[in-house]
Amino acid sequence: MSVPPTPPLTSKELFEKACDVIPGGVSSPVRAFRHVGTSPVYFNRAEGPYLYDVAGKQYIDFCMAFGPHLLGHSPHNVVRVIQEQAGRGLAFGACHPKEVILANLILKSYPFLQKVRLVTSGTEAVMTAIRLARGFSGRDKILKFEGCYHGHSDGLLAKAGSGVAELSEADSKGVPKSVVSDTVIARYDDLNSVRAAFQANPNSIAALIVEPIPANYGLWIPKYEHIKEVVKIAKENGALVIFDEVITGFRVGLAGATGFFDLRPDLVTLGKVIGGGLPLAAIVGRGDIMDGLAPLGSVYQAGTMAGNTMAAAVGIEVIEELFRRRPTLLRWDEQCEAFAQELETRLSRHTTVQVPRLGSIFWIHFGPPSTSFPPEVTEEGKHQYGEFFRRALETGVYLAPSPYEVGFISFAHTPEVLKQAIERLETCVVPATK
Ligand code: PMP
Repeated sequence: MSVPPTPPLTSKELFEKACDVIPGGVSSPVRAFRHVGTSPVYFNRAEGPYLYDVAGKQYIDFCMAFGPHLLGHSPHNVVRVIQEQAGRGLAFGACHPKEVILANLILKSYPFLQKVRLVTSGTEAVMTAIRLARGFSGRDKILKFEGCYHGHSDGLLAKAGSGVAELSEADSKGVPKSVVSDTVIARYDDLNSVRAAFQANPNSIAALIVEPIPANYGLWIPKYEHIKEVVKIAKENGALVIFDEVITGFRVGLAGATGFFDLRPDLVTLGKVIGGGLPLAAIVGRGDIMDGLAPLGSVYQAGTMAGNTMAAAVGIEVIEELFRRRPTLLRWDEQCEAFAQELETRLSRHTTVQVPRLGSIFWIHFGPPSTSFPPEVTEEGKHQYGEFFRRALETGVYLAPSPYEVGFISFAHTPEVLKQAIERLETCVVPATK
């Protein structure tokens, strides 16, 4: 007698099992869905603009793995490159031609910079950029902005106390006070706080690090004059400028936010899009600074997987694809913005909501417009987002599982898919209670 097949586990059952063996059941905290008041969906497969959960249900995906899949999920050309490279070797732990090709391709987008080091995550890229800046300048302090995220290395998990005069405060247990005491916090939307930070720490700030277009605490698009002044203040004070373009690199146009604003940072960190879903990130920088890295200089950085063949092969394919699409990119950005505009119009029929946007990045913010950064997300707004997110799941749309996270559009999101998403999302709005 044959045994009937066991039905596949549901997302709920999988999560319960996960919680037994993985802290909080997840490999990265936002995936636990705590900000949206439900438990995680388990996915089995992804293709184009869609995710498919373990029960086979299809979702239009606007989280897109938090940014890497600009070409959509598993595009054919990228899958082919992965298959070809897998047949030739996964990682050599040694030099290979693809890292040279990839470095040159990256530099095509940042022509005023000279060198690239490949690493495996945005966190690692930022850690290395900071170490380089410290090594180059002989200074220890770093200036970062409240509300900007730069990965989970110790010194950058710091938020502002009230005003720059106060000691920085760690956002995570386990980060020694001594480490964050070298992190100075200012407000990106307040030039006086930037000036005050430099005044309070004369000749001791190695670098100012900034997400030029912050996209980790909602989305804020600073004015050109504003960011230009921020860069000027840093340079006047002898600090290097690090643009953290882990999100914006190759997404906000081919030259990222750097090209968008036509500015000249000393170092740029990249990740997400350049890896197309594989672990790849990079530090791009001025030759004189980058040559401080071992083995030429004495700033140490290394990695068993750094620049590994699979990730480099994908990186090349992704960037070449973007260059092939160059003539259409501006038009595409406009189409994405039109989607976000339409989404805002339709959701606004039911409640007060903003959808700030730039190209293929958008943010759904329930509540009145916020002109400051970081923006205020009210308790009511959080509640509305949670309910909206859960209803969106029901209708087959997967949004970022947090009211602070932005959404991403890919080339695979056709006008029809976007239209369908708007129809569905309009049905998910809950009016504010007050
Ligand atoms: N910098 C920025 C601007 C990011 O958005 C992120 C990730 N969201 C990081 C750094 C860290 O990158 P990773 O998660 O690859 O370590």
